[in-house]
Amino acid sequence: MDTSSDGRATGKLRVAEMFYSLQGEGRSSGRPAVFLRLQHCNLLCGRDGASWQCDTLEVWRQGQALTFAEIVARGRAAGWLSYLAAEACLVVTGGEPLLQQQALRGFLRYLADQGLRPVVEIETNATLVPTPELDAYVAQYNCSPKGANSGNSYRQRHNAAALQALVRNSKAGFKFVVSTRAEVEQIKAEYIDPYGIASSRVWLMPAAATRAALQASEQQVFALCQEYRYNYSTRLQIQVWDQATGI
Ligand code: SF4
Repeated sequence: MDTSSDGRATGKLRVAEMFYSLQGEGRSSGRPAVFLRLQHCNLLCGRDGASWQCDTLEVWRQGQALTFAEIVARGRAAGWLSYLAAEACLVVTGGEPLLQQQALRGFLRYLADQGLRPVVEIETNATLVPTPELDAYVAQYNCSPKGANSGNSYRQRHNAAALQALVRNSKAGFKFVVSTRAEVEQIKAEYIDPYGIASSRVWLMPAAATRAALQASEQQVFALCQEYRYNYSTRLQIQVWDQATGI
């Protein structure tokens, strides 16, 4: 992040897409939200051996670097700046948005300089530690650590320092993509038990990229949530819009 001569934050973010919708997953599901999807990810879910694939891969691989002023101008033109002022939350997603956390902190400071302090949610794969400077602007972390069923190796998907920091942070909830009991046992053994994540902070979400796949596994995952006493998350955007993105 840079600072202009009048002390304002300036800089750029690599942006894949921006749109206004409803939060589709996790504990804020159904809430009006402006989505800011950033480019790039440090994982690649769906490699050999995976039981599901990243459903935004083709989106976060596209995009461009935009100045903070250009992002705000686009938001104003699309109307979502006024939604943020009216208390829609700002969901920063990806890809992996913490790859750009220094610039992201600059952008949130830029919004604050203009009198905009939205409720900010960060969607992260929990492999990076948020800095205190960014954390000061964040209301909620929607962490989605990846299991063996993602196809990423243990070394790629598992960062103990990041997990410990996020578990210590009361703003973080943990959402896991699963379909079967074996997958629940795997994420329980890798994450939930060793890091002492309370069941009230855990969501299980069916692995599904289409409405048909969601319908095929939702009863099973719902029953697993009942059995293990975890929260259930659907995928509202798939339930309602199937494979369309940016809605
Ligand atoms: S961590 Fe998230 S954005 Fe990155 S490849 Fe996996 S599902 Fe896609």
